[in-house]
Amino acid sequence: MITDGHNHTKHFSVDAGQTIDELINEAKSKGFNRIGITEHYEIDYVDDGLNWMFDLEEYNRTFEEWRAKAGDFELLKGIEFGYQTHVAEEIDKVAASIPLDVVLMSVHLFRGKDFYVDRDCYKMPAKELHSEYINIMAEMCEKCNNFDVVAHYDYINRYADNKNDFITYEETPKEIDRLFEVMISKDKALEINTKSIQKHKDGGFTRWLPDSAILNRYRDMGGKLITLGSDSHFPGTFAVCFTEAVEYLKSLGFKETVYYKDHKPFFESL
Ligand SMILES: [Zn+2]
Ligand SMILES: [Zn+2]
Repeated sequence: MITDGHNHTKHFSVDAGQTIDELINEAKSKGFNRIGITEHYEIDYVDDGLNWMFDLEEYNRTFEEWRAKAGDFELLKGIEFGYQTHVAEEIDKVAASIPLDVVLMSVHLFRGKDFYVDRDCYKMPAKELHSEYINIMAEMCEKCNNFDVVAHYDYINRYADNKNDFITYEETPKEIDRLFEVMISKDKALEINTKSIQKHKDGGFTRWLPDSAILNRYRDMGGKLITLGSDSHFPGTFAVCFTEAVEYLKSLGFKETVYYKDHKPFFESL
């Protein structure tokens, strides 16, 4: 079993529509005995009328109740932080303030705008857009320390109208090298986000995601930490495309993935 280390519930993530019970039951029915819960925590997010943060003490308390009820089924407690340059220090402080198994770091905004809603960035030349997006992630890894995983590096592609819009190594080698260099030197993991795969599949993509040259480059530079996450928000999406992602990683010669417990990597054979 490969752990799905990236999931949301409606109890703490404002955009999620599944309860913890629904999520656990679905995971059990698919043969899993462990999951990662990584609720959204966005400091100074765009003003969309939603509350993208939650009470950390309440999360602590609730999580203990979930664990007690889940019994042998293992729940990994995590947070997914949304990065912006001006909140880097605050993220590190919050991440260190409560006991967590795993911290994911994400870039959900481009130039302060939510590209899921505001589509302007997609009018930019793809290379320029991808270059700036990867550089923000590299900066995030340079400025922040208290995290474990870089989530969905391909998030900007996920919501492009063109489902064949991909970040590739050929297009932005310097930016990808900059990102991987800092990730590898700080022992931060690279997430394969299977929801991104699903979205591209639905749109009729013509090449695999993440790009094989990117994964090969990560390994060639010394990267050993790969996580899998379905980023599920609603019932029916837990561990989506896991079988395909595992086969894909194996075809590229990868042998193992990791999940995090108390911020330590635990390896699982593919
Ligand atoms: Zn995310
Ligand atoms: Zn997420």
